[in-house]
Amino acid sequence: MKRLINRAEDVVEEMVEGLILLHPGLRRLPGQTVIVRADAEVFRPQKVALISGGGSGHEPAHAGYVGRGMLSAAVAGDVFTSPSPDAVLAAIRAVAGPPGAVLIVKNYTGDRLNFGLAAEMARAEGIPTEVVIVADDVALPESDQTAGPRGLAGTVLVHKVAGACAEAGGTLAEVAAEARAAARAVKTMGVALSPCTVPAAGKPGFTLGENEIELGLGIHGEPGIRKAPLEPSDALIDRLLEVILARFVTKPSRVALLVNGLGGSTAMELAIVARHALAKLLEAGIRVERAYAGTFLSALEMAGVSLSVLEVDDPRLARLDASTDAPAWPNAPPRSRVERPRTEPPAEVVVSPSSPPSTESGQALGRALRRVAEALIAESSRLNELDQAVGDGDLGVSLARGAKAMLEAIPQLPLDDPSSTLHALSVLLQRSLGGTSGPLYAVGLLRASRRLRESPGDWSGAIRDAAVGIMELGGAKPCDRTMLDALVPAAGELAGSLALGRSSREALAEAAEMARVGAESTASMSPRKGRSSYLGDRAIGHPDPGAEAVAVWLRALLE
Ligand code: ADP
Ligand code: MG
Repeated sequence: MKRLINRAEDVVEEMVEGLILLHPGLRRLPGQTVIVRADAEVFRPQKVALISGGGSGHEPAHAGYVGRGMLSAAVAGDVFTSPSPDAVLAAIRAVAGPPGAVLIVKNYTGDRLNFGLAAEMARAEGIPTEVVIVADDVALPESDQTAGPRGLAGTVLVHKVAGACAEAGGTLAEVAAEARAAARAVKTMGVALSPCTVPAAGKPGFTLGENEIELGLGIHGEPGIRKAPLEPSDALIDRLLEVILARFVTKPSRVALLVNGLGGSTAMELAIVARHALAKLLEAGIRVERAYAGTFLSALEMAGVSLSVLEVDDPRLARLDASTDAPAWPNAPPRSRVERPRTEPPAEVVVSPSSPPSTESGQALGRALRRVAEALIAESSRLNELDQAVGDGDLGVSLARGAKAMLEAIPQLPLDDPSSTLHALSVLLQRSLGGTSGPLYAVGLLRASRRLRESPGDWSGAIRDAAVGIMELGGAKPCDRTMLDALVPAAGELAGSLALGRSSREALAEAAEMARVGAESTASMSPRKGRSSYLGDRAIGHPDPGAEAVAVWLRALLE
């Protein structure tokens, strides 16, 4: 897989170097991949130190949580490999003074042993040290697990609660007790959509089919409960929440929710997940006091998400809200809405209802518009493919969206009055079409509508004015490889044929043919406007999708 790394064996070292340069509040211990608060000397004599860490590959965990009000130090092992007791001990020595240290350890055998031994060694040196284990994974039934439930993203919430307690001057016993209570009160379950690859290993730890997911995964690509077919996000979130809520002995009444991206899921997806999780919790009669969504504890580039639900009361909420300067904790305290969000009513229909067209020409206009819309929908995937070659691949989708809006609106259009109809279509398309085409079609229709108002029946003038409007708004000229290269020759042909006394049907047929030829000719033009202009001469050989679209709807008009 492609990555922005240099040598696989240097990733952790170079990441630590980068973090130190990025964050002046952080410092590294010489010779160790240990990150500590730069002001350790100041707080060490007065406050309990909080230390966490583990294998790397879970960024921003744990170095991102080092700062006032959260961790005092983070120990980074190799990717997915527990750090040595030596590194953990170095961290304890660097940040812990007489008040002592609390080590927050995710429940993996390696981490328990390495942090556990370091704690022994620290105590032997006279540094009071407590170990708090986080085992928030609820995917597997407790009885099935020899090593106990795993530590997952809920660990970050434990960092926050314990860090705020230590910052507020809590004693070693108090900080350890709050951390343990928070660890018991948080339940996490995740779902993986794709595996992840340890840089040094070079291939994924497990495989998932195109439509397969792993429910209840671990954060190192260790298997979850089972593989299952991919479902819509809402259904997956229902599954996770069902298991999580069932694990609380008594249903919590107030919680904080952490929606954690595993590294390869977009912020867009996390918001979609959060939206449903919040609605479901509300429906279950649970008050979500705080909600966080982001990548808090990742599994390299794994796609997927985990949900953590932490039971809260006022004192624990205050810990979550306490300020921190740890770089990876969201600064604005996110407060979730406790009421159901209102769904916005759909935008009102743009045209007022009117009676069916009474004139012959009104009925013909209705039929023509229907044909145009149907043709654009039918050609949608071809136009998308053309746009994929030279643009962003959405033109077919956009035009089909506009066409569907048009089909829905036809019964309400004032078809007996073509000028008003085109005006209404302009308003409709600027709302529904989007992209670059949206405003260009809208301005064209607006100009055409004006022409028909001033000289009723002058369709050839209307198309010419539309083309001029598009040129003025978009700044393109013929031969810039845009829709104009179909529209302008077609307008010219229409006017010319009509002037020669051809029937409007013949004239339209010739115009449609000119649009086809014009669109074809764009394949040899170099783009100067729109998205394809980024491609330069690489666009040559592909026709312009917008020009093809003009040829499509002119041909449909003819039919
Ligand atoms: P995008 O996705 O790039 O915003 P669309 O996919 O909606 O745009 O439309 C792409 C088409 O728009 C192009 O194929 C071209 O015909 C047309 N186009 C782009 N820029 C202009 C312009 N300045 N004037 C006229 N047409 C343009
Ligand atoms: Mg496009």
